[in-house]
Amino acid sequence: MRASQIIASLLLVATLGAPSLAQEDRRPNFLFIFSDDHAPHAIGAYGTRYSAINPTPNIDQLANQGMTFKASFCTNSICGPSRAVILTGKHSHYNGFMANGDRFDGDQQTFPKLLRAAGYQTALVGKWHLQSDPQGFDYWDVLPGQGDYYNPELINANGRRMIEGYCTDIVTDLAIDWIENRRDQSKPFLLMAQHKGPHRNWMPPLRHLDWLDGITLPEPATLFDDYADNASPASWQEMEIDRHMALVFDLFLNPPPDFDPKKERGTDKSGFNNMNRMTKSQRMAWDAAYADENAAFYESPLEGKNLVRWKYQRYMKNYLRTSRAVDDSVGRLVDYLDEAGISDNTIVIYSSDQGFYLGDHGWYDKRWMYEESLAMPLVVRWPGKVGLGITNGDLVQNLDYAPTFLDLAGVDIPVDMQGRSLAPLLMGDPKVGWREEIYYHYYGYPAVHQVARHYGIRTERYKLIHYYQFGEWELFDLQEDPDEVSNVYADPVYREVAFNLAERLGALRAHYGDTTGGELMPQDWRDARRVKK
Ligand code: CA
Repeated sequence: MRASQIIASLLLVATLGAPSLAQEDRRPNFLFIFSDDHAPHAIGAYGTRYSAINPTPNIDQLANQGMTFKASFCTNSICGPSRAVILTGKHSHYNGFMANGDRFDGDQQTFPKLLRAAGYQTALVGKWHLQSDPQGFDYWDVLPGQGDYYNPELINANGRRMIEGYCTDIVTDLAIDWIENRRDQSKPFLLMAQHKGPHRNWMPPLRHLDWLDGITLPEPATLFDDYADNASPASWQEMEIDRHMALVFDLFLNPPPDFDPKKERGTDKSGFNNMNRMTKSQRMAWDAAYADENAAFYESPLEGKNLVRWKYQRYMKNYLRTSRAVDDSVGRLVDYLDEAGISDNTIVIYSSDQGFYLGDHGWYDKRWMYEESLAMPLVVRWPGKVGLGITNGDLVQNLDYAPTFLDLAGVDIPVDMQGRSLAPLLMGDPKVGWREEIYYHYYGYPAVHQVARHYGIRTERYKLIHYYQFGEWELFDLQEDPDEVSNVYADPVYREVAFNLAERLGALRAHYGDTTGGELMPQDWRDARRVKK
């Protein structure tokens, strides 16, 4: 036997002799499929007004194979902050990423770092949106900033390059490639596959451009909300389909002959610019799909409510088509796990960073503590461990994700994480006592869309919101008023409820250590804003 063979044999004995982590590591893998702005009320499993068109067959199937959290909420309804909360298990004021434009302190403790230290392989592909470079990942390949839908650039350790194709499909390809070819197969893995879709400007893939043609989608009951009963911030925001959604930039109408993009103020041009990055054949297919509708629009101009209705239809169809591509990704990824024979030991999670207004209250975008943007989808499949087709109604938050990952991997949860592990809920433990209220805090004012800063508390039945910059309050009885159009804060019938909730809100702020949120805008600014549009 040659020396090298002897050494090899000794190594083999050593490997077999010691209880090898590599061979016995049956800790679960995590496939975290995460999208951007995908509202639960656009997903079949959550009950959607669009159920007739079956918008999310693959996510619905995942729900049938696992647990759907129906009372799932964010702590701060905006992209970057939600991601920071997920990574850290800490509220925005505590992890330091409070508003979009902040820079995530990547040196701090995150759950991917802790999983990696415990022997997991960790990877991140797709949207990151936290300004600083990702840390805690063996592999990452991310979109710069918001990323582009068509022919996006991606950045990894080797630099930056453009990949031709549709972003959601590319992220899916990268995710599958990592599982198949790039990871250390002896270790369990965490893969975060994070999509840009269906974020503004809602650009569908070519294959779904004709889906929903000729269909009239149902409108939300509050499409023409007049905010008559709300605190003043609802009436002076800048996120209305009517007043703020742009026909060319947001809805892809052909620019009229006198159109000057520089004169279109305050609108998001990313979709318009992305069209210029399309290949010739992509652009031809894109233009052809909208040609007839666009021509018809100019032939008989609309105004008033009819124009809002037209914009809503175009917006929602593109949103649902873009979401459909995310749903395709869920189908492809789950199928791949089956084909690779690793489904049984892989926990699949579907979520999105917050909800979104689908014409509800006349709006698009997010930010508010109202239900449509406070809610986040959360579906978890773990074959053989989590029951089939189960719904859970406990109040859970993105704050809970980090402790949940750690708990399911058998890693200690650091005491400074503020969320709770969802593992007992997933296992259907009937004895687990759960929280009866959640805390929320949004910081982005003044900023795009002009939504006043607010914090608040939501219980199963009630929601109390404090717009502290303007000294205004809202109270909603969700049982009597699920659309939140009737602010009962000043109603004597609710006096005791309001008092009780305010006390609990104060206790929650103390519990989470949130001392931010005392700033009051100058009186003349408040007075000016209170004058309704
Ligand atoms: Ca988002």
